[in-house]
Amino acid sequence: MAGEPQADCLFCKIVAGDVPATVVRETETTVAFRDINPQAPSHVLVIPRAHYPDAASLAEAEPEIAADVLREAGAVAAQEKVADGGYRVVFNTGSGAGQTVFHAHAHVLGGRGLNWPPG
Ligand code: C5P
Repeated sequence: MAGEPQADCLFCKIVAGDVPATVVRETETTVAFRDINPQAPSHVLVIPRAHYPDAASLAEAEPEIAADVLREAGAVAAQEKVADGGYRVVFNTGSGAGQTVFHAHAHVLGGRGLNWPPG
């Protein structure tokens, strides 16, 4: 069923506590944890507890949870003290755009200058 945990999904395992992660924030609907391969001094992933393969399918099925993810991205930036210097929220969508984990997630990157356009 849509949104249900998937046995082969790494981020569902993090939500369940079966794979360790450095969690920085949690809500009823989301978990935020440090990326294991940080691309900036502060690099946190915000994921919905529910399983959807990407941000668009999450927003289509559960718009309130998609809004929770965005709200938490802002809360992470404030908590990490990168909001004043500017930060980036990225949803890689599709393998051609660099998505490697097919459970919706927002990258929240900050703490350094961020170029535009991204690579
Ligand atoms: O956008 P993409 O799907 O590539 O992002 C997945 C991210 O998950 C990567 O930045 C990777 O470093 C991170 N990751 C993690 N913990 C894991 C496995 C992957 O933070 N156990």
